[in-house]
Amino acid sequence: MARDPILLTPGPTPVPPEIREVMSRPIPHHRTPEFQAVLKEVAAGLKRVFRTEQDVLILTSSGTGAMEAAVVNLLSPGETAFVIQGGKFGERWAEICRGYGIRVVPFNSPWGRPLDLNRASEEAAKDPSIRAVFSTLCETSTGVAYDIRGLRQAIGPKPLLVVDAISGLGVDPFEMDGWGVDAAVSGSQKGLMLPPGLAFIALSPRGWEAAERSGSPRYYFDLRLAREAWKEADTPFTPGISLIVGLAESLKRIQAGGLDQVLELNRRNAEAVRQAVKGLGLELYTDPSCASNGVTSVKVPAGIDGKELLKRLRKEEGIVLAGGQGKELAGKVFRIATMGAIGPEEIRAGLAALEKVLVQMGWKAPALK
Ligand SMILES: *Cc1c(COP(=O)(O)O)cnc(C)c1O
Repeated sequence: MARDPILLTPGPTPVPPEIREVMSRPIPHHRTPEFQAVLKEVAAGLKRVFRTEQDVLILTSSGTGAMEAAVVNLLSPGETAFVIQGGKFGERWAEICRGYGIRVVPFNSPWGRPLDLNRASEEAAKDPSIRAVFSTLCETSTGVAYDIRGLRQAIGPKPLLVVDAISGLGVDPFEMDGWGVDAAVSGSQKGLMLPPGLAFIALSPRGWEAAERSGSPRYYFDLRLAREAWKEADTPFTPGISLIVGLAESLKRIQAGGLDQVLELNRRNAEAVRQAVKGLGLELYTDPSCASNGVTSVKVPAGIDGKELLKRLRKEEGIVLAGGQGKELAGKVFRIATMGAIGPEEIRAGLAALEKVLVQMGWKAPALK
């Protein structure tokens, strides 16, 4: 195949050439004024993308590291977490909490459907021991964007609100401060157009109070260390230097047109994918009323082997789509991302290849039967 494969996956997403170029330059030492200037620049840019006045700390790990950091810094063993579970990543919050001896009250939200805020409010009110509520912004496994502002209103001001915005940041609307979020986490390989390897976390003032008190074991992810170092434009351990150099470039790219424009482009691209998919006679998995700007889940049509479809797209067409995750969705859906640097050209190529391979596999659109 002549060209590089096109990633239409919700992480990793394609890394634009100008970002790859800056990351391939000779590596600076991290404890130098040169690199500290880069850290200060990304510190300001990250605040704008999180829409927060708080420090957004950089951790060198995949996104899940920041999820774990949120749990160990906010809660102590024996405390109670209310976890919105409407897909694989909501379940991950519950798994991390249990791993640290935190009591989990799961709130099962039907996959692919919007959050029932009235029911969430009722359920959360039943247990006064709830210290923190955990949700995803974009539940990448289904393509649902949850109503985080509504969730804060539903649970009231008391519990801490913790949001996994790993795939939603810079993709779906998100206002950390404006929506009363106490901890927000993200990662580098989704909307920020970087390779995997960096995670981000910001805490509200209440979140920091919790971090001072938490009795959970922590060392690498002790955010108090990261915050102290951050004051001096430093990190407690060797950071992912080259990725941070790339991050400065990625944030510049986002700021060039402004974050709102990026969100709007993603929204239009996702809408175009949904329309095109329906035009092909395929069915969307996710309720369009809660569909994320960043990922669209499509049902594998009857009579088509979902795994074979993705394999042929990858091998014969150089188009990489994501499959369904977990027992619930493996082989039943495939997912098309519209985040980061994925634009109309990549989407057109992806959809054309999808139609071609489906037809080769003997699929007939309902209207053509
Ligand atoms: C990708 C993703 C993660 C996991 O991130 P890793 O970088 O693989 O650790 C967690 N939550 C959501 C919503 C994601 O999309």
